[in-house]
Amino acid sequence: MINITLPDGSLRQYEKGTSSMQIAQSISEGLARNVLAAEVDGQVWDAGRAIEQDAHVKLLTWNDLQGKATFWHSSAHLMAEALEALYPGTKFGIGPAIETGFYYDVDFGDRVFSSDEFKQIEDKMLELARTKEEFSRKAVSKADAIDYFTEKGDEYKLDLIKDLTDGSITFYTQGNFTDLCRGPHIPNTSFIKAVKLMSVAGAYWRGDESRKQLTRIYAVTFPKASELTEYLHMLEEAKKRDHRKLGKEMELFAFSEKVGMGLPLWLPKGAALRERLTNFLQKAQVKAGYEQVITPHIGHKNLYVTSGHYEKYGADSFQPIKTPQEGEEFFLKPMNCPHHCEIYKTKPRSYKDLPVRYAEFGTVYRYEQSGELHGLTRVRGFTQDDAHLFCRPDQVKDEFKKVIDLVLYVFGALGFEDYTAQVSLRDPNNKAKYIGTDENWALAESSIIEAAAEKGLRTVVEYGEAAFYGPKLDFMVRDALGRKWQLGTIQVDYNLPERFELEYTGSDNQKHRPVMIHRAPFGSLERFVAVLIEHCAGNFPLWLSPEQFIILPISEKYEDYAKKLSESLKDSDICGLIDFRDEKIGRKIRDAEVKKIPYMLIVGEKETAEGLVSVRKHGEGDLGSMSIEEFKKQIIKEITV
Ligand SMILES: [Zn+2]
Ligand SMILES: [Zn+2]
Repeated sequence: MINITLPDGSLRQYEKGTSSMQIAQSISEGLARNVLAAEVDGQVWDAGRAIEQDAHVKLLTWNDLQGKATFWHSSAHLMAEALEALYPGTKFGIGPAIETGFYYDVDFGDRVFSSDEFKQIEDKMLELARTKEEFSRKAVSKADAIDYFTEKGDEYKLDLIKDLTDGSITFYTQGNFTDLCRGPHIPNTSFIKAVKLMSVAGAYWRGDESRKQLTRIYAVTFPKASELTEYLHMLEEAKKRDHRKLGKEMELFAFSEKVGMGLPLWLPKGAALRERLTNFLQKAQVKAGYEQVITPHIGHKNLYVTSGHYEKYGADSFQPIKTPQEGEEFFLKPMNCPHHCEIYKTKPRSYKDLPVRYAEFGTVYRYEQSGELHGLTRVRGFTQDDAHLFCRPDQVKDEFKKVIDLVLYVFGALGFEDYTAQVSLRDPNNKAKYIGTDENWALAESSIIEAAAEKGLRTVVEYGEAAFYGPKLDFMVRDALGRKWQLGTIQVDYNLPERFELEYTGSDNQKHRPVMIHRAPFGSLERFVAVLIEHCAGNFPLWLSPEQFIILPISEKYEDYAKKLSESLKDSDICGLIDFRDEKIGRKIRDAEVKKIPYMLIVGEKETAEGLVSVRKHGEGDLGSMSIEEFKKQIIKEITV
């Protein structure tokens, strides 16, 4: 018999050679119907594979990331089978699962392939899926593997086999199709109920431009037809909300090749939005005891040698800026922390002075390959809402709780209601790879766990996910489309205080090292604004809108009245503008709708004569006419809610 430990800690005994699927069946038939694969002692396996010794087993379903990945990778085999059936002689490269779905790189020879053929491939895949073909695993020798693909004439598989060691090679077969693969796969093809080929692109074999360009087919599959429908709807919606598209329409930000790729230009309205965000956070930070500091955009090479950034990122980063005479080298600032450590060191610190909390909206620059750049979410220059807290080890928990409060305050004010937090701890079996004493780690880890629990956060704990310099807490928000984004982060750091020899004098009159906490509720303003735009589809909360109203005079005659209204609103700190263009009122309304300006105030003859405004709300339509005082009251109420 073997002992199987399940994730809830329960222990069950089974005959040696029992498979994860049999374990699932012994628990419930319903569960077994949903099992796609299993994690056996941390490795993902075929659910049908025999377990020969005591093990920790986690059954994986569609609801697990690894379960989904196994499903999608297996679907790549199914697509290959369909392609081989439809286009005999097709050669196959690699077919991995990706974040959503999978792809397969294939060589169609001289055939010109187009997306017109997607439908027949989808149909073939579904036809094959219904036959419930099993994915069967077979270990093969290197010589046999070479023979098989030599006979088949697939030079790509042969190229892959070349790098594999004898004894580690497995084939998987479903139906008439056999692939070189280390697995795992789902039990059989009948789990795949919905198929959609998404796009086709060129991809060089092994990413090498000197080698042949293959055809990469992207696709996605689901265990239920309704899930595919939902997914396609979500994609449509995401396209409409794409921050790059809305950012342009709403005139928030722009990019210029002349300025440089990945370097966003904030246009006046975007800058106003950003300023509102920073003011909002800064106000909350002052209340929470932070002090604002300002540091330069570049730092001496020695600063980054001390911090360790030079050794770690020097060659992969922007290259140094050199002074013409002294021959000194400076780097664009990749992080604010080293500068803040130097600020901490400007005077002696006593245990009574701690914690010290330095905040800075610090702009940093990191080199990203041009192909990786994406709107505001992957850029080369961005501003972090950064802060570093220097505290005693016994203060870590309290500081964490305060930072959690701040992060939740930010999420609440911006309409992110669905979030989880990931606690990243040390790998308990490999403590040597982390810096800092055991005692401090134990204290910090329990502090984070307790702080999160006391704040009622929904958390997942991940062992081995901590940085080498300390444990951390990351916030993941789910946006209105159900997509997950990592936003705020709080990290404990034992490394920089050591490297910068930071000290404070304890109550024992001895020198001690403070603990450093890095934290950024937004992460970066660029990324946060991108997520926010897509989350609220550009309809920012009123308090954040760079333009809260637009006055639309029906003709030139009413401009003086419009100006008077605008002045009166601005006196009450409500900001907006007047559309002075010589356009029809219908056109002015449509343009204001595109720019998602929350309130439109239409003024014509009646309004001017009676001292009123006709109010339209974005996305809602006509609210009727009212006096300017009434309108102000309504807006102020909405902003303070
Ligand atoms: Zn495979
Ligand atoms: Zn930092």
